[in-house]
Amino acid sequence: MIPFLDLNLIHKEIENELKEAVLRVINSQNFIGGAEVEDFEKEYANYCGVNYCVGVGNGYDALHLSLCALGVVPGDEVIVPSNTYIATWLAVSNCGAKPVPVEPDPVTYNIDSNKIESALTSKTKAIIPVHLYGLPSDLDNINRIAKRYGLFVLEDAAQAHGSSYKGKKIGGHSDIVAWSFYPSKNLGAMGDAGAITTNNREISDKIRLLRNYGSNKRYINEIQGFNSRLDPIQASILRVKLKYLDKWNSRRRQIASYYSSLLADTAIITPYNPIWANSAWHIYAIRYSKRDYLMRRLYEEGIETLIHYPIPPYKQKAYLNYSSIDNYPISSEISQQLISIPVWPMLTDAKVYQIAETINNIIN
Ligand SMILES: *Cc1c(COP(=O)(O)O)cnc(C)c1O
Repeated sequence: MIPFLDLNLIHKEIENELKEAVLRVINSQNFIGGAEVEDFEKEYANYCGVNYCVGVGNGYDALHLSLCALGVVPGDEVIVPSNTYIATWLAVSNCGAKPVPVEPDPVTYNIDSNKIESALTSKTKAIIPVHLYGLPSDLDNINRIAKRYGLFVLEDAAQAHGSSYKGKKIGGHSDIVAWSFYPSKNLGAMGDAGAITTNNREISDKIRLLRNYGSNKRYINEIQGFNSRLDPIQASILRVKLKYLDKWNSRRRQIASYYSSLLADTAIITPYNPIWANSAWHIYAIRYSKRDYLMRRLYEEGIETLIHYPIPPYKQKAYLNYSSIDNYPISSEISQQLISIPVWPMLTDAKVYQIAETINNIIN
């Protein structure tokens, strides 16, 4: 079986460094906050080329606390992609605000910035572009619209560690950027972890308060906050893995371009690779009309694939009030046609060739 992702093969390469890092935290006796978290925050801010990074408990909290910091309250509306992981929507709903879905561009699968303006109302407070599969959204256009209407932009960069937009790394293009370090992400911890990055001092200070009970000083509570802190053991692991992120991402890029050449001129639609962006290739998603058949046949041939995402948020039971009218034909269609094939950095060229040839044999 070729697994969709083999974390063991990734961790094998850095096993000693990981053990050393965890042992350092154990010996420090510092299990909440402290130097390890602060050092990771500095190193990740530096990596992204931004002024501030604040570690939090997970990617969902990074989104939710960001919306709280931007002042999103019940009654507000927030623009979200119709095709995203449900966390993007839940962060909005759990502020008491309404997620307003906008359809993706059928070529990039990212939110279609040309459709945002018609979805705005007097209640709109913010826009959340998601850099799906690692490909940056159309950030210049989105930020231009936000500026014109006085809206905030929160990027969901949970899949875009090391991606760049017009030559500059993701992390500081908008008001605030939310990150997940879920284990399978390009930069993944060994448990839950997340962060925000921003160039805005006030916003980063607000997140620091929100993640720690509204407190900067023990037993002094300035606002009603949450408990969502980045665990020092996870921070120590992330510090090790951050050093390898660029190397691993460039291997992902090689694999992606190899796939794209092997699958060219077939019935498979390969991912769009624009010149204005550098994807981190968190996911390599191909599109094929008989997706379920292809997926089943690949499984029989020993190749594990996944679907991101089989059921869009508006079709989930959790969002029943959205599903009565399916106004999202593009999302609905691509959710039935996309299939993600393995793209993790330790895949050999031989395996990549085998996967692509197996696909070509199945569809021909
Ligand atoms: C992974 C992911 C999240 C949530 O991250 P968690 O750390 O699991 O909370 C949010 N948005 C997107 C697009 C993701 O891929």
